[in-house]
Amino acid sequence: MTNSYGNTSKIVCSVSILSNKNIDFTLIFRFPKDPELQNKWTLKCRRGDRMNPCLSYMCSEHFSDDAYVRDLKAELLAYTPKCRKLKPDAMPTLNLPEDYAHSNVASTSSSSRRSRMELRKKKTGDYNYIMLSLITNKY
Ligand SMILES: [Zn+2]
Repeated sequence: MTNSYGNTSKIVCSVSILSNKNIDFTLIFRFPKDPELQNKWTLKCRRGDRMNPCLSYMCSEHFSDDAYVRDLKAELLAYTPKCRKLKPDAMPTLNLPEDYAHSNVASTSSSSRRSRMELRKKKTGDYNYIMLSLITNKY
């Protein structure tokens, strides 16, 4: 029985499809401190369980080049920087669970409008609210 949150010796990417991947060759980033961005990152992960964004990480597999702060020195000298910094508003866009992209496209359909109304009724502002929206948008 392992708890990925309590175990600080192993940092795991929060995106479930890649969770078993060996991340030795990739960079790993902490979730942003901004609550709004935190929510967006969390949604991208499409995790069914309740995760704590403050203790979560995402690996560099999910960020395109323009999500990073440009390292002009590295670009000029044509080497790959050892350490890369994400922009403050960087969003994960690559290698994410496909369901997310699908539900995003279908957001104008009547079924999702109905689920939005259901959600509005259940406006708790709680974390469960986000998880519920993930579940309803799936179908
Ligand atoms: Zn990852």
